[in-house]
Amino acid sequence: MKVFISVDMEGVAGIVSWEQCLAGGDDYALGRELLLGEVNAAIAGAQAAGATEICVNDAHSQMRNLPPAALAGRASYLSGKFKPRYMMEGLDSSYDAVVFLGYHAAIATPGVLSHTYNPRAITNVRLGGEVAGESGLNALVAQHYGVPVAAVTGDQYVGGEAARFCPGIEVIAVKESISRYAAHHLHPEVARERIRDGVARALSTVDSLVPPAVALPATLDVDLASPDMAEQATWVRGVERTGERGVRLCDDEPLRLYQSFITLVYLTRSLVEA
Ligand SMILES: [Zn+2]
Repeated sequence: MKVFISVDMEGVAGIVSWEQCLAGGDDYALGRELLLGEVNAAIAGAQAAGATEICVNDAHSQMRNLPPAALAGRASYLSGKFKPRYMMEGLDSSYDAVVFLGYHAAIATPGVLSHTYNPRAITNVRLGGEVAGESGLNALVAQHYGVPVAAVTGDQYVGGEAARFCPGIEVIAVKESISRYAAHHLHPEVARERIRDGVARALSTVDSLVPPAVALPATLDVDLASPDMAEQATWVRGVERTGERGVRLCDDEPLRLYQSFITLVYLTRSLVEA
């Protein structure tokens, strides 16, 4: 069994601040330690269910938050910036399952450190009319390759958001967001046990899971922070202006829709104020 783990950081138990999850932050060392513990718990769960090959795609910020030699299970490590398929880089149809680890709520949700790819440019995304976070957007790539998303970890919001797009997903909540910068966390040891057990349970029935099945053609409605970002977004082929700050992307190919969205994310960065 081949398992692909897409690793974010804001949804890890113990994390409530950018200082804990951005390089140079005064508490980044603690954040990395907490992250590694949860990644290794997911790897242990995958191995318990029979995984023989595990790829860890580091998908947070600079995308090099993990010490490769400390990864359990001799997992391979995909790291570094400017990956064309970003949080899903490396996935292909040879994988049996995807795990979303340390994921956070969409920008329109009051979860800890909520955002949707770029908190300073994107104020909401709806996929097929439903609010989508990174889990829903990333599900488009899993859909393209026909790989089920078996489990997601994070706060009490992220599971429900993922479940709209990932049928049968195992939801593993490791903390309860109180506001965008506060949460009540499980003890890291308890969080890791739940992740290990939840991932093992989800992968033990992987044959009965189906890949995401967003209705096609699919529509992405994206609200941006300023009208000039919306104007710039229309430079991407197929992007249509729907309002002062709103644009719409529509495609019958899920991977192409995802890539158009990522292009829009990269492009609008130039207009984000420092
Ligand atoms: Zn992140």
